[in-house]
Amino acid sequence: MTSDGDRPGGFIRLRADLHTHAIGDGRFGANTADLVARHLDGALKAGLDVIGVTDHDDLRPGLLALEEVERRNLPLFVLAGMEVTTDDGHLVVLGLQAPLKPWRSMIETIALARERDEETLLIVPHPFFASLREQTGIDAIERLNHRYGDFDVTRDDIAVIASSDAHSAADLAANPMRTLLDVTEKSWSGVIDAIRNRRATIVPAGCCRGD
Ligand SMILES: [Zn+2]
Ligand SMILES: [Zn+2]
Repeated sequence: MTSDGDRPGGFIRLRADLHTHAIGDGRFGANTADLVARHLDGALKAGLDVIGVTDHDDLRPGLLALEEVERRNLPLFVLAGMEVTTDDGHLVVLGLQAPLKPWRSMIETIALARERDEETLLIVPHPFFASLREQTGIDAIERLNHRYGDFDVTRDDIAVIASSDAHSAADLAANPMRTLLDVTEKSWSGVIDAIRNRRATIVPAGCCRGD
């Protein structure tokens, strides 16, 4: 299952869901590995090429997902991250190698994520408030969030995306929209480059299958 053959303009088109929860509202525990495995199977069933595993204030499920795709050699590109609770709203951070602490201001959380040795991507999810819709210092913002609806965001300075915010494997397939990334290579730097250059488009789930 790959869309590598589909290269309009020389780009590889990847169907992505960048904000999902493998353990939902639950806590990390004995069943987490099973939930992560089911989540990845669900992502493949939903036809995704790229998935962000971004549990609430917990990086461990994302790191487990990375191990699991490698162990099973799954045709899925995992971005490990977390949805960090800040004093000013949630922030999705992708590409983390070590967790970020919750409950700081949004500005401080963004600064700490940017100071990391590893390069991170920062997404404002479900922007309920005007301050979030206008947030600076980020790479992308959700217009569509399948749990919370259409936030009618227009920004021409950053990527505007659609996420499932899935809290279970079943939620992944239920999301009718995807974020299509046009990457030059299927790698973390390829994903960063696509998002920072706004080669991210909101498309219906059935769109753009190269296979
Ligand atoms: Zn949230
Ligand atoms: Zn979420």
